[in-house]
Amino acid sequence: MADFKCPLDPPPLWCEKQCEKVDKNDPQSIRLYCLEESLVSFRREETPLPLNECRLLAEEICKEYKSPIPEIKDGRGLKVAKCSFDGKKKLVIKLPRHLRYRIAVLHEATHCVVQYHYRDKESGYQHHGPTYIRYLLDVYARYLDIPIATLERAATLFQLDFKPV
Ligand SMILES: [Zn+2]
Ligand SMILES: [Zn+2]
Repeated sequence: MADFKCPLDPPPLWCEKQCEKVDKNDPQSIRLYCLEESLVSFRREETPLPLNECRLLAEEICKEYKSPIPEIKDGRGLKVAKCSFDGKKKLVIKLPRHLRYRIAVLHEATHCVVQYHYRDKESGYQHHGPTYIRYLLDVYARYLDIPIATLERAATLFQLDFKPV
């Protein structure tokens, strides 16, 4: 991975070649964010969704992939969207206002699905590991209506491993 160069030209301000570095615990995360940035037209062309529509979309995906329905909360004030377990072991997605876009909801709902099915089964589980990316590409193909081959090519360009362990 040492020779990875961000394919975005110019790279987004928040990247500043961050994606060329590796986070040991979650090595694919920043490169994935840059890949999503390359799909950014989906964000710009859309107006933010009302929280309730985000909720319905997350529900639809979790049902489709046979995992429990997460609770969707107002994440106002957060810089990033979050998906985590609450005190009662229920998955909660918190969506700040500036991230109530289809692509962000798909990303977080996919975390719910993959955490539910794989978190305890894979050793060295990574938040944005190969299994997660595999599911995410599948979800993007279906819900953003992008051919899977296009997404796989993009993932390869960003040197993302999407072969499930
Ligand atoms: Zn980058
Ligand atoms: Zn994520």
